[in-house]
Amino acid sequence: MDKTPSNKLHHAVSMSALASQGNNDDNSVEEKNCPSIARTESTVCFTDFSDSSDDESETKGGGAKVQPHIGYKKVLVTGGAGFIGSNVAEYLLERGDDVVIVDEMNDYYDVRIKESNLSLLREKYPEKHRLQIYRGDICDTEFMMKLFEIERPEWVCHMAARAGVRPSIQDPYVYIHSNIKGTTHLMELCHKFGVKNFVFASSSSVYGGSESTFFSEDEVVDCPVSPYAASKKACELLAYTYHHLYQLNVSALRFFTVFGPRGRPDMAPFKFIDRVSRGLEIQQFGDGSSSRDYTYITDIVDGVVRAIDRPHKYEVFNLGKGSGTSLKEFIDLVQKHTGKEAKIKVMPDQPGDVPYTCADVSKAKKLLGYEAKVPFDEGIRNTAAWYKEAYNTNTIEICPELQANGLGRAPSMVEIATSAAVVQPPTISA
Ligand code: NAD
Repeated sequence: MDKTPSNKLHHAVSMSALASQGNNDDNSVEEKNCPSIARTESTVCFTDFSDSSDDESETKGGGAKVQPHIGYKKVLVTGGAGFIGSNVAEYLLERGDDVVIVDEMNDYYDVRIKESNLSLLREKYPEKHRLQIYRGDICDTEFMMKLFEIERPEWVCHMAARAGVRPSIQDPYVYIHSNIKGTTHLMELCHKFGVKNFVFASSSSVYGGSESTFFSEDEVVDCPVSPYAASKKACELLAYTYHHLYQLNVSALRFFTVFGPRGRPDMAPFKFIDRVSRGLEIQQFGDGSSSRDYTYITDIVDGVVRAIDRPHKYEVFNLGKGSGTSLKEFIDLVQKHTGKEAKIKVMPDQPGDVPYTCADVSKAKKLLGYEAKVPFDEGIRNTAAWYKEAYNTNTIEICPELQANGLGRAPSMVEIATSAAVVQPPTISA
């Protein structure tokens, strides 16, 4: 591999390990494959596997338990500037793994939130080699090839995607680009570079108009009701193909509405807390009885990391709380934890919305040892407290009304993703 400075990747300015490539290239790859600090802790909880009565048997969903990998890992986290990716990256770094982030920093929602997520990680983990941050589109062939050649990640946690149901109806092409093309491209690289485990974010949206109320991975999900859902289902199908053709280990994680501190401003938990806090009207779609399985961020991170540690051949897992909360109850809790009364405007149901989503998480419990621990009440309390601290002190000023599903349509990826560029130092800190 040509590692002359002219071949150097664009990288985040504060990433000293990459910055050093120009003058100390000889053994940078080898060095970076070694742990730079002792691994502090593992998520592996062996007691999860103590009930071993059916250890050898095939379990629901066709899979069998695999022994967790407990050693050091260098993990590529795509979408690592985003909500879930940055939290996963933080957890991995905290326990002693090294992390490579790639994110194009698109403006689906305010980019300052993503910059702030990255600067938080940089501040916490300034050590050379521990955290590398690349800005670029995962569909950019040359850029991603160079990234894999330099970093050689053996574990991939693919969180990058265009998210959001309604914006996908308005602009389906960016979803096809980032989600389907991007995931396919990553799996090609994972196959070529011998990646040990490819864990990626699917979505509960794939359950679409299903008439069941307790979604199981066994259900046939051939009727996605939005381009977003279709793109995630397409990723699951393509992932199976990569497993079949190249024996790539794949776990597809169907997340059920994730929320918490640093959450996405286009999603109901953030928007409701924000608007109720500011005394602004909130929109209630339907009669308030529609129910969602809301999952707190630390539970999702736990599920993602458990999946990374356990390379299954090909599995799809629901990751949710495992019980639903009605919109009405949700609004009541927001009022309780913000201490403000909500001004509610009742709106008709939205096209593409699913009336009830609740995860059957028994497969994730059985194969991953996953169990959501944070009650919705506690999650909203924590999120409202974080909101008060971060937003009332004007640390970051976000206008949720202008985010993607406030009808501020995210601009097309084709216009945004020119080429990899240097991440500018954040102007605002968290
Ligand atoms: P997010 O938007 O905060 O993070 C996604 C990140 O991916 C963003 O920072 C974005 O800039 C980046 N990205 C998008 N396209 C890219 C591309 N082509 N190249 C490089 N980077 C790109 O979203 P999130 O809530 O953190 O979601 C993470 C994953 O989980 C996504 O795949 C999403 O579809 C999935 N998911 C999330 C939820 C949820 O409730 N948050 C629910 C179901 C599924």
